[in-house]
Amino acid sequence: MKFDSSSYIKEIYRLILGLVALILLGLLIGDIWAFIAVGLFLYAVWHLYHINLLIRWLSDSDIKSPPQPWGIWADVFHFIYRVQSQNQKRTQKIQTLLERYKEATEAVPDATMILGRNWKIEWLNKKCKNYLELRPRKDIGKPLNHLISSPRFLTFLESCDYLGEWNTALEIDSPDKSRRLSIRLIPFGKRYLLIARDITEFQQLRDVRKDFVANVSHELRTPLTVISGYLETLSEYPGEDEMYAGSIHMMQQQSNRMCRIIEDLLLLSKVEANEKNSHSLSMVNMPNMLQMLKNEALAVSNGQHHISVEMDKTIPFLQGDEYELRSAFSNLVSNAVRYTPDGGNIVIRWYQKKHKQLCFEVEDSGEGIEKQHLDRLTERFYRVEVGRSRATGGTGLGLAIVKHVLNHHQAKLLIRSEPGKGSVFCCEFSEQTLNQT
Ligand code: ADP
Repeated sequence: MKFDSSSYIKEIYRLILGLVALILLGLLIGDIWAFIAVGLFLYAVWHLYHINLLIRWLSDSDIKSPPQPWGIWADVFHFIYRVQSQNQKRTQKIQTLLERYKEATEAVPDATMILGRNWKIEWLNKKCKNYLELRPRKDIGKPLNHLISSPRFLTFLESCDYLGEWNTALEIDSPDKSRRLSIRLIPFGKRYLLIARDITEFQQLRDVRKDFVANVSHELRTPLTVISGYLETLSEYPGEDEMYAGSIHMMQQQSNRMCRIIEDLLLLSKVEANEKNSHSLSMVNMPNMLQMLKNEALAVSNGQHHISVEMDKTIPFLQGDEYELRSAFSNLVSNAVRYTPDGGNIVIRWYQKKHKQLCFEVEDSGEGIEKQHLDRLTERFYRVEVGRSRATGGTGLGLAIVKHVLNHHQAKLLIRSEPGKGSVFCCEFSEQTLNQT
């Protein structure tokens, strides 16, 4: 909006006319300067009066219609009044928008908050009180990492900040333990949006499924052991009939496969159950572990592969559940042997990365995996080639076990692979895992 410049020109004309009238009057009476001085003084008083009027009018917090003066001041008042009215409308519009935004964020079923520098809470919705025991008024301005002290949550904040792992969600119990929460951190500008979702129901369903699989596997184990036992006895007395012997052999193979699947399902259930419980971790001796894995690989390979170990002896220990870690590492090594043709190379490594993460790695020069399969490899029973997996004694559960063991240790599985060239499976443990001794 612009001020109309013609009113300014009109005012100059009025001033000139006034001056001319004063000069003529001065000529008639015989004292021009006295008339000009009096005229200018009155003109200045008139302006000062209107300036005072303007100040008083502007100091009023309500926007009232302006006083109705004369001359250029009429235009000035009118112009300011128009600008004020327009600003008021704009402010009202922004306020309505803000109100709606606030209502919308309160309607969201998730606890939401905006975090600034050093995790300072800048804004949070009411759900934060129920889910995270944060008080919408009192906790604004306080650093979130001082209010929620769970070590897993603090590690999560750090890993998001330093390593940029914005896609990962953290599952933790609410402070009063009544809910299971999935927490995500999303960066925007120089701030973060934290969203905590209640996944209690989803967690219960997951638990029901897990319990079902664990119970079924457990119930199947005893009859299968009995069947395997009888089949073994029968195979020791094959008799003359070749078809009979072949059938027994086939049944033995299939029952062994079923036993392996059930053992893997039971192990998976156990690891999943452990994931939630914090348990006593021990210091796992890595040189011994790598030596044992190498011996195991040599046994599976039957001397058909070149198997070597590379390890950083300055990091002899990894804190974790020895039984679980052994199962996970052993699955990776056994996969490397099974999916690498005879004569291929397999390297088992243990080292520390640049950002201090500890890494257990298995590299093979095998058939490799196409890119589109990589994201799904850790799903239960997902196989790139079902025939090959079965033929080599695979259950389709190995990498699912690895994933859950690593989840339990707040570690992650990184897979690099190129078809025809080979694969690298790396279990990356944060330095934190080691520090939580
Ligand atoms: P499986 O018992 O079938 O090996 P896993 O869960 O261990 O099940 O592995 C899933 C699938 O990932 C395998 O079927 C295989 O296709 C692929 N895979 C795993 N490890 C390797 C590897 N080192 N090289 C090539 N493919 C692999």
